[in-house]
Amino acid sequence: MAEKSVRAVIKVGSNVLTGRDSMLDSGVMESIVDQIASLRNAGIEVILVSSGAVASGRSIVRSLRKLDSVSARQLYSSVGQARLINRYYELFDRHGIVCGQVLTTKESLSTRDHYLNQMNCMTVMLENGVIPVINENDTISVTELMFTDNDELSGMVASMMNADCLVILSNVDGIYNGNPDSPGSSVIKEIRPGDNVSGFIGTGKSSFGRGGMLTKYRIAAKVADEGIEVVIANGKKKDILQEILLHKSSDCTRFIPAERPISHIKKWIAHSDGFAKGKIRINEGAMLALAGEKASSLLPVGVTSVEGDFEKGDIVLILSPEGKTIGMGKVSMDSARASECIGMKGRKPLIHYDYLYME
Ligand code: GLU
Repeated sequence: MAEKSVRAVIKVGSNVLTGRDSMLDSGVMESIVDQIASLRNAGIEVILVSSGAVASGRSIVRSLRKLDSVSARQLYSSVGQARLINRYYELFDRHGIVCGQVLTTKESLSTRDHYLNQMNCMTVMLENGVIPVINENDTISVTELMFTDNDELSGMVASMMNADCLVILSNVDGIYNGNPDSPGSSVIKEIRPGDNVSGFIGTGKSSFGRGGMLTKYRIAAKVADEGIEVVIANGKKKDILQEILLHKSSDCTRFIPAERPISHIKKWIAHSDGFAKGKIRINEGAMLALAGEKASSLLPVGVTSVEGDFEKGDIVLILSPEGKTIGMGKVSMDSARASECIGMKGRKPLIHYDYLYME
């Protein structure tokens, strides 16, 4: 892949960065930075999405009173993020590489303008040889404003920055075809567009991070569907990044990207489900039209109900007749006007094809 892959987003989970004692594992961080430095020498541009702020802070601060989960996250991440980025800065500096910190929130990506602003920030860093080290700003991002986890954030970044590859490093080798602890199960090496392996995946979460394998799978499948290769691998393994990105070998799960990449605006919409301001339920006919090969917009005639209070240009979810989310898009009118034209023929599209993303 090295000849082709020029930009890689690498996501490192808290469980990779912390040892058994829940302290930051300096050896692992050093190894990851060394590997990134040699990827750069091989011509690969890297964006790092690193967790570990909360875990790292938790091992340093002892609170004087019992904290609720929001305060605990704020306290630990305020200290932990400072430690984390300091350590990265020192480690990259040894290779003569400058890294910079990008702390983001879901809100910072929620409108097209915010999104383009974040994109500009990372672009200018890369143009100037600075490695972006990204994390969610856990001190201000709480409850509904939170990303599901950094897997979701890394998927968004890979999509936004038009990466060739997203590598999600965890403390397991990939997605297994059974319980990873059972002797008979092995890592699924390749997942092709349209394959569904969610039945194999347990729902357990890692002990420090927020994510689990199911979210990793969901994000990976979505990003691969946008034409970006995704690899889930074990970040504790020696030289794993070189193995994946330069030698294309290793015990890992590789998602083969879909052949027809989608447009940049559709990529933004594809990752916008968390910002949706409303819901539009459609009938069978509209569902067939939208799922078909031909490019179709969502017309009022196919709409059966409109929920929520949205403005023109907001993102809304598209629901099947049974109420299942099947897509999302940017609406061309506000909720009041959309409600007025439910079921009407000959009206302008509620969501134009260019601003529509079907799951
Ligand atoms: N942003 C969190 C941290 O740095 C991690 C979120 C996650 O577990 O994915 O600790």
